[in-house]
Amino acid sequence: MNAPQRIPWANLSTLRAGVGIVQLLQLQQDEEIFEAIQQSRREGRRLLPVGKGTNLIGSDQELPVTMLSLSAMRAMDVFDGGKVRVQTGIPLGIFVQNLATQGFGGISALAGIPGSLGGALAMNAGANGCSISEFVTEMHGIHLRSGEEWQWRKGDGGWAYRHSPLPPHVMVTTAVLELQLVDSQEETEKISAEWMRRRRVTPRGLSCGSVFRNPPNAPAGRLLEEAGCKGLTEGVFSVSQQHANWIVNASGNVGKAEDCRRLVQRMQTMVMERHGIRLEAEWRFADLL
Ligand SMILES: Cc1cc2nc3c(=O)[nH]c(=O)nc-3n(C[C@H](O)[C@H](O)[C@H](O)COP(=O)(O)OP(=O)(O)OC[C@H]3O[C@@H](n4cnc5c(N)ncnc54)[C@H](O)[C@@H]3O)c2cc1C
Repeated sequence: MNAPQRIPWANLSTLRAGVGIVQLLQLQQDEEIFEAIQQSRREGRRLLPVGKGTNLIGSDQELPVTMLSLSAMRAMDVFDGGKVRVQTGIPLGIFVQNLATQGFGGISALAGIPGSLGGALAMNAGANGCSISEFVTEMHGIHLRSGEEWQWRKGDGGWAYRHSPLPPHVMVTTAVLELQLVDSQEETEKISAEWMRRRRVTPRGLSCGSVFRNPPNAPAGRLLEEAGCKGLTEGVFSVSQQHANWIVNASGNVGKAEDCRRLVQRMQTMVMERHGIRLEAEWRFADLL
Protein backbone atom coordinates (compact mmCIF):
# COMPACT_ATOMS: atom_id res chain seq x y z
CA MET A 1 0.00 0.00 0.00
CA ASN A 2 1.25 3.52 -0.81
CA ALA A 3 1.96 5.85 2.09
CA PRO A 4 -0.67 8.57 2.55
CA GLN A 5 0.28 12.03 1.27
CA ARG A 6 -0.32 15.26 3.16
CA ILE A 7 -1.87 17.76 0.77
CA PRO A 8 -3.90 20.98 0.98
CA TRP A 9 -7.67 20.40 1.11
CA ALA A 10 -7.95 22.82 -1.79
CA ASN A 11 -6.31 20.21 -4.04
CA LEU A 12 -9.31 17.94 -3.43
CA SER A 13 -11.92 20.54 -4.40
CA THR A 14 -12.33 21.83 -7.96
CA LEU A 15 -13.41 25.15 -6.41
CA ARG A 16 -10.01 25.26 -4.57
CA ALA A 17 -11.83 25.69 -1.24
CA GLY A 18 -10.16 24.79 2.06
CA VAL A 19 -6.87 26.07 3.48
CA GLY A 20 -6.26 23.13 5.89
CA ILE A 21 -4.14 20.04 5.28
CA VAL A 22 -5.51 16.54 4.75
CA GLN A 23 -4.18 13.01 4.28
CA LEU A 24 -4.87 11.39 0.93
CA LEU A 25 -4.39 7.69 0.25
CA GLN A 26 -4.42 6.50 -3.35
CA LEU A 27 -5.59 2.88 -3.47
CA GLN A 28 -4.51 0.40 -6.12
CA GLN A 29 -6.77 -2.54 -5.21
CA ASP A 30 -9.80 -3.42 -3.04
CA GLU A 31 -7.72 -5.31 -0.43
CA GLU A 32 -5.89 -2.10 0.48
CA ILE A 33 -9.15 -0.71 1.86
CA PHE A 34 -9.02 -3.32 4.64
CA GLU A 35 -5.39 -2.37 5.41
CA ALA A 36 -6.43 1.30 5.47
CA ILE A 37 -9.25 0.48 7.92
CA GLN A 38 -6.81 -1.29 10.29
CA GLN A 39 -4.38 1.61 10.07
CA SER A 40 -7.09 4.22 10.65
CA ARG A 41 -8.24 2.35 13.80
CA ARG A 42 -4.68 2.34 15.14
CA GLU A 43 -4.25 6.05 14.43
CA GLY A 44 -7.76 7.16 15.48
CA ARG A 45 -8.51 8.62 12.06
CA ARG A 46 -11.71 8.52 10.01
CA LEU A 47 -11.72 7.32 6.41
CA LEU A 48 -13.79 9.09 3.79
CA PRO A 49 -14.12 8.45 0.05
CA VAL A 50 -13.16 11.11 -2.45
CA GLY A 51 -13.66 11.08 -6.21
CA LYS A 52 -12.53 14.03 -8.31
CA GLY A 53 -13.66 16.67 -5.80
CA THR A 54 -16.12 18.28 -8.22
CA ASN A 55 -18.77 18.48 -5.52
CA LEU A 56 -16.58 18.75 -2.44
CA ILE A 57 -15.69 21.77 -0.31
CA GLY A 58 -12.56 21.17 1.78
CA SER A 59 -11.84 22.30 5.31
CA ASP A 60 -9.74 25.07 6.85
CA GLN A 61 -8.71 22.64 9.62
CA GLU A 62 -6.41 19.65 9.73
CA LEU A 63 -9.10 17.06 10.47
CA PRO A 64 -8.23 13.55 11.74
CA VAL A 65 -9.38 12.17 8.39
CA THR A 66 -7.80 10.18 5.56
CA MET A 67 -9.43 10.61 2.19
CA LEU A 68 -9.41 7.43 0.09
CA SER A 69 -9.12 7.76 -3.66
CA LEU A 70 -9.84 5.00 -6.17
CA SER A 71 -8.65 7.06 -9.14
CA ALA A 72 -6.18 4.31 -10.14
CA MET A 73 -8.97 1.69 -10.15
CA ARG A 74 -10.85 2.04 -13.42
CA ALA A 75 -11.05 -1.41 -15.07
CA MET A 76 -14.21 -2.17 -17.06
CA ASP A 77 -15.53 -5.35 -18.57
CA VAL A 78 -18.55 -5.68 -20.86
CA PHE A 79 -20.56 -8.92 -20.63
CA ASP A 80 -23.98 -10.33 -21.64
CA GLY A 81 -24.09 -7.94 -24.61
CA GLY A 82 -24.71 -4.69 -22.76
CA LYS A 83 -23.87 -5.04 -19.09
CA VAL A 84 -20.63 -3.55 -17.85
CA ARG A 85 -18.83 -4.25 -14.59
CA VAL A 86 -16.65 -1.27 -13.79
CA GLN A 87 -14.41 -0.01 -11.00
CA THR A 88 -15.73 3.29 -9.73
CA GLY A 89 -12.48 5.29 -9.90
CA ILE A 90 -13.02 5.82 -13.61
CA PRO A 91 -13.97 9.38 -14.64
CA LEU A 92 -17.61 9.36 -15.78
CA GLY A 93 -16.87 11.05 -19.13
CA ILE A 94 -14.13 8.52 -19.99
CA PHE A 95 -16.43 5.66 -19.01
CA VAL A 96 -19.22 6.91 -21.29
CA GLN A 97 -16.79 7.49 -24.15
CA ASN A 98 -15.13 4.04 -23.77
CA LEU A 99 -18.55 2.40 -23.88
CA ALA A 100 -19.48 4.30 -27.02
CA THR A 101 -16.35 3.11 -28.82
CA GLN A 102 -17.40 -0.46 -28.00
CA GLY A 103 -20.94 0.14 -29.32
CA PHE A 104 -22.78 0.59 -25.99
CA GLY A 105 -24.57 3.70 -24.85
CA GLY A 106 -27.84 5.46 -24.17
CA ILE A 107 -25.98 7.38 -21.46
CA SER A 108 -24.53 10.26 -23.54
CA ALA A 109 -26.70 12.80 -21.64
CA LEU A 110 -24.37 12.28 -18.66
CA ALA A 111 -21.09 12.47 -20.60
CA GLY A 112 -20.32 16.05 -19.58
CA ILE A 113 -20.72 15.63 -15.82
CA PRO A 114 -17.25 15.93 -14.35
CA GLY A 115 -16.05 13.61 -11.60
CA SER A 116 -15.66 9.89 -11.06
CA LEU A 117 -18.26 7.17 -11.47
CA GLY A 118 -18.07 6.64 -7.67
CA GLY A 119 -18.94 10.29 -7.06
CA ALA A 120 -21.77 10.08 -9.59
CA LEU A 121 -23.21 7.05 -7.78
CA ALA A 122 -22.90 8.76 -4.39
CA MET A 123 -24.65 11.90 -5.66
CA ASN A 124 -27.02 10.25 -8.16
CA ALA A 125 -25.60 12.69 -10.68
CA GLY A 126 -27.86 13.70 -13.51
CA ALA A 127 -28.30 16.01 -16.48
CA ASN A 128 -30.75 16.60 -19.30
CA GLY A 129 -33.55 14.84 -17.39
CA CYS A 130 -31.50 11.64 -16.96
CA SER A 131 -29.73 10.25 -13.85
CA ILE A 132 -27.01 7.64 -13.39
CA SER A 133 -29.42 5.55 -11.26
CA GLU A 134 -31.39 4.65 -14.41
CA PHE A 135 -28.51 2.44 -15.59
CA VAL A 136 -27.31 0.80 -12.37
CA THR A 137 -28.13 -2.84 -11.63
CA GLU A 138 -25.56 -3.63 -8.92
CA MET A 139 -23.20 -1.81 -6.57
CA HIS A 140 -20.54 -3.31 -4.33
CA GLY A 141 -18.63 -1.52 -1.63
CA ILE A 142 -17.05 -1.62 1.79
CA HIS A 143 -18.18 0.02 5.01
CA LEU A 144 -15.17 2.11 6.02
CA ARG A 145 -15.83 1.77 9.76
CA SER A 146 -16.89 -1.86 10.20
CA GLY A 147 -14.95 -3.27 7.21
CA GLU A 148 -18.10 -5.17 6.17
CA GLU A 149 -18.93 -5.69 2.53
CA TRP A 150 -21.99 -3.86 1.21
CA GLN A 151 -24.11 -4.70 -1.83
CA TRP A 152 -27.03 -3.13 -3.62
CA ARG A 153 -29.09 -4.79 -6.37
CA LYS A 154 -31.70 -3.43 -8.75
CA GLY A 155 -35.02 -3.64 -6.90
CA ASP A 156 -33.51 -2.59 -3.56
CA GLY A 157 -34.54 1.01 -4.37
CA GLY A 158 -33.34 4.04 -2.42
CA TRP A 159 -32.64 6.41 -5.33
CA ALA A 160 -34.18 9.87 -5.54
CA TYR A 161 -33.27 13.25 -7.04
CA ARG A 162 -29.57 13.75 -6.13
CA HIS A 163 -29.97 11.02 -3.52
CA SER A 164 -28.33 7.58 -3.54
CA PRO A 165 -28.98 4.36 -1.61
CA LEU A 166 -25.30 4.36 -0.56
CA PRO A 167 -25.29 4.48 3.25
CA PRO A 168 -22.95 6.89 5.05
CA HIS A 169 -19.36 5.58 5.35
CA VAL A 170 -19.72 3.08 2.50
CA MET A 171 -17.23 3.37 -0.34
CA VAL A 172 -18.58 1.93 -3.57
CA THR A 173 -15.78 0.18 -5.43
CA THR A 174 -17.52 -1.65 -8.29
CA ALA A 175 -20.82 -1.26 -10.10
CA VAL A 176 -22.69 -3.02 -12.85
CA LEU A 177 -24.57 -0.84 -15.34
CA GLU A 178 -26.86 -1.94 -18.15
CA LEU A 179 -26.52 -0.10 -21.46
CA GLN A 180 -28.10 -0.28 -24.89
CA LEU A 181 -26.49 -1.49 -28.11
CA VAL A 182 -25.82 1.64 -30.16
CA ASP A 183 -24.08 2.77 -33.32
CA SER A 184 -20.62 3.70 -32.13
CA GLN A 185 -20.17 6.72 -34.38
CA GLU A 186 -23.63 8.19 -33.67
CA GLU A 187 -23.09 7.79 -29.93
CA THR A 188 -19.67 9.44 -30.13
CA GLU A 189 -21.25 12.37 -32.01
CA LYS A 190 -23.92 12.73 -29.29
CA ILE A 191 -21.20 12.79 -26.64
CA SER A 192 -19.24 15.48 -28.52
CA ALA A 193 -22.43 17.54 -28.91
CA GLU A 194 -23.07 17.30 -25.17
CA TRP A 195 -19.51 18.42 -24.41
CA MET A 196 -19.94 21.41 -26.78
CA ARG A 197 -23.28 22.33 -25.18
CA ARG A 198 -21.68 22.27 -21.75
CA ARG A 199 -18.81 24.44 -22.90
CA ARG A 200 -21.37 27.04 -24.04
CA VAL A 201 -23.52 27.06 -20.90
CA THR A 202 -21.05 26.45 -18.06
CA PRO A 203 -20.18 29.67 -16.21
CA ARG A 204 -16.53 30.66 -16.50
CA GLY A 205 -14.19 30.10 -13.54
CA LEU A 206 -13.45 27.23 -11.19
CA SER A 207 -16.56 25.76 -9.58
CA CYS A 208 -18.14 22.77 -7.90
CA GLY A 209 -21.25 22.75 -10.08
CA SER A 210 -24.71 23.82 -8.89
CA VAL A 211 -24.70 24.91 -5.27
CA PHE A 212 -28.29 24.00 -4.36
CA ARG A 213 -30.74 21.27 -5.29
CA ASN A 214 -33.80 22.47 -7.15
CA PRO A 215 -36.75 22.66 -4.73
CA PRO A 216 -39.97 20.93 -5.92
CA ASN A 217 -41.67 23.81 -7.72
CA ALA A 218 -39.00 26.17 -9.06
CA PRO A 219 -35.40 26.07 -10.25
CA ALA A 220 -33.00 27.21 -7.54
CA GLY A 221 -31.23 29.46 -10.07
CA ARG A 222 -34.37 31.53 -10.68
CA LEU A 223 -35.12 31.91 -6.96
CA LEU A 224 -31.53 32.99 -6.29
CA GLU A 225 -31.53 35.45 -9.17
CA GLU A 226 -34.84 37.00 -8.06
CA ALA A 227 -33.44 37.29 -4.53
CA GLY A 228 -30.55 39.36 -5.96
CA CYS A 229 -27.72 36.91 -5.29
CA LYS A 230 -25.71 37.37 -8.50
CA GLY A 231 -22.36 39.01 -7.77
CA LEU A 232 -22.38 38.39 -3.99
CA THR A 233 -18.77 37.81 -2.89
CA GLU A 234 -16.89 36.31 0.04
CA GLY A 235 -13.10 36.08 -0.28
CA VAL A 236 -12.19 34.54 -3.64
CA PHE A 237 -15.70 33.15 -4.17
CA SER A 238 -18.58 34.90 -5.85
CA VAL A 239 -22.00 34.06 -7.24
CA SER A 240 -21.65 33.86 -11.01
CA GLN A 241 -23.19 36.64 -13.10
CA GLN A 242 -24.06 33.95 -15.66
CA HIS A 243 -25.94 31.60 -13.31
CA ALA A 244 -27.14 32.47 -9.80
CA ASN A 245 -26.94 28.83 -8.61
CA TRP A 246 -23.23 28.72 -9.38
CA ILE A 247 -20.38 29.93 -7.17
CA VAL A 248 -17.12 30.57 -9.00
CA ASN A 249 -13.54 31.15 -8.00
CA ALA A 250 -12.46 33.39 -10.85
CA SER A 251 -8.89 33.98 -9.61
CA GLY A 252 -8.15 30.26 -9.13
CA ASN A 253 -6.42 31.11 -5.82
CA VAL A 254 -7.00 28.93 -2.77
CA GLY A 255 -9.90 30.20 -0.68
CA LYS A 256 -11.18 29.57 2.83
CA ALA A 257 -13.92 26.97 3.20
CA GLU A 258 -15.39 29.32 5.79
CA ASP A 259 -15.83 32.05 3.12
CA CYS A 260 -17.57 29.54 0.92
CA ARG A 261 -19.91 28.43 3.72
CA ARG A 262 -20.71 32.07 4.54
CA LEU A 263 -21.58 32.79 0.92
CA VAL A 264 -23.83 29.71 0.75
CA GLN A 265 -25.58 30.83 3.96
CA ARG A 266 -26.10 34.38 2.62
CA MET A 267 -27.69 32.92 -0.51
CA GLN A 268 -29.98 30.70 1.61
CA THR A 269 -30.99 33.62 3.80
CA MET A 270 -31.78 35.88 0.82
CA VAL A 271 -33.98 33.22 -0.81
CA MET A 272 -35.73 32.53 2.50
CA GLU A 273 -36.43 36.25 2.99
CA ARG A 274 -37.64 36.76 -0.59
CA HIS A 275 -39.51 33.49 -1.26
CA GLY A 276 -39.92 31.72 2.10
CA ILE A 277 -38.14 28.67 0.64
CA ARG A 278 -35.24 26.91 2.36
CA LEU A 279 -32.69 25.85 -0.26
CA GLU A 280 -30.66 22.73 0.44
CA ALA A 281 -27.03 22.56 -0.67
CA GLU A 282 -26.08 19.87 -3.18
CA TRP A 283 -22.41 20.19 -2.27
CA ARG A 284 -20.64 18.06 0.33
CA PHE A 285 -18.69 19.96 3.00
CA ALA A 286 -15.68 18.13 4.47
CA ASP A 287 -16.39 19.59 7.92
CA LEU A 288 -19.83 17.95 7.89
CA LEU A 289 -18.94 14.54 6.45
C1 LIG B 1 -18.45 22.25 -13.95
C2 LIG B 1 -19.31 21.28 -13.18
C3 LIG B 1 -20.49 20.81 -13.72
C4 LIG B 1 -21.29 19.90 -13.01
N1 LIG B 1 -22.44 19.47 -13.59
C5 LIG B 1 -23.20 18.55 -12.93
C6 LIG B 1 -24.39 18.05 -13.52
O1 LIG B 1 -24.77 18.39 -14.64
N2 LIG B 1 -25.12 17.14 -12.82
C7 LIG B 1 -24.73 16.71 -11.59
O2 LIG B 1 -25.43 15.85 -10.99
N3 LIG B 1 -23.61 17.17 -10.99
C8 LIG B 1 -22.85 18.08 -11.64
N4 LIG B 1 -21.70 18.54 -11.04
C9 LIG B 1 -21.35 18.10 -9.70
C10 LIG B 1 -20.39 16.89 -9.66
O3 LIG B 1 -19.63 16.84 -10.84
C11 LIG B 1 -21.12 15.55 -9.49
O4 LIG B 1 -21.83 15.50 -8.28
C12 LIG B 1 -20.12 14.38 -9.53
O5 LIG B 1 -20.85 13.19 -9.70
C13 LIG B 1 -19.24 14.26 -8.27
O6 LIG B 1 -18.22 13.30 -8.56
P1 LIG B 1 -16.78 13.39 -7.87
O7 LIG B 1 -16.03 12.17 -8.25
O8 LIG B 1 -16.11 14.66 -8.19
O9 LIG B 1 -17.19 13.33 -6.34
P2 LIG B 1 -16.51 14.14 -5.12
O10 LIG B 1 -16.80 15.59 -5.28
O11 LIG B 1 -15.10 13.75 -4.97
O12 LIG B 1 -17.36 13.59 -3.91
C14 LIG B 1 -18.73 13.90 -3.78
C15 LIG B 1 -19.33 12.98 -2.72
O13 LIG B 1 -19.29 11.65 -3.20
C16 LIG B 1 -18.61 10.81 -2.27
N5 LIG B 1 -17.89 9.79 -3.03
C17 LIG B 1 -17.00 9.96 -4.02
N6 LIG B 1 -16.56 8.76 -4.48
C18 LIG B 1 -17.20 7.82 -3.75
C19 LIG B 1 -17.17 6.39 -3.71
N7 LIG B 1 -16.40 5.68 -4.54
N8 LIG B 1 -17.96 5.75 -2.82
C20 LIG B 1 -18.76 6.45 -1.97
N9 LIG B 1 -18.82 7.78 -1.95
C21 LIG B 1 -18.06 8.47 -2.82
C22 LIG B 1 -17.68 11.74 -1.49
O14 LIG B 1 -17.37 11.21 -0.21
C23 LIG B 1 -18.53 13.00 -1.41
O15 LIG B 1 -19.44 12.89 -0.34
C24 LIG B 1 -20.89 19.46 -11.73
C25 LIG B 1 -19.68 19.92 -11.18
C26 LIG B 1 -18.89 20.82 -11.91
C27 LIG B 1 -17.59 21.29 -11.32
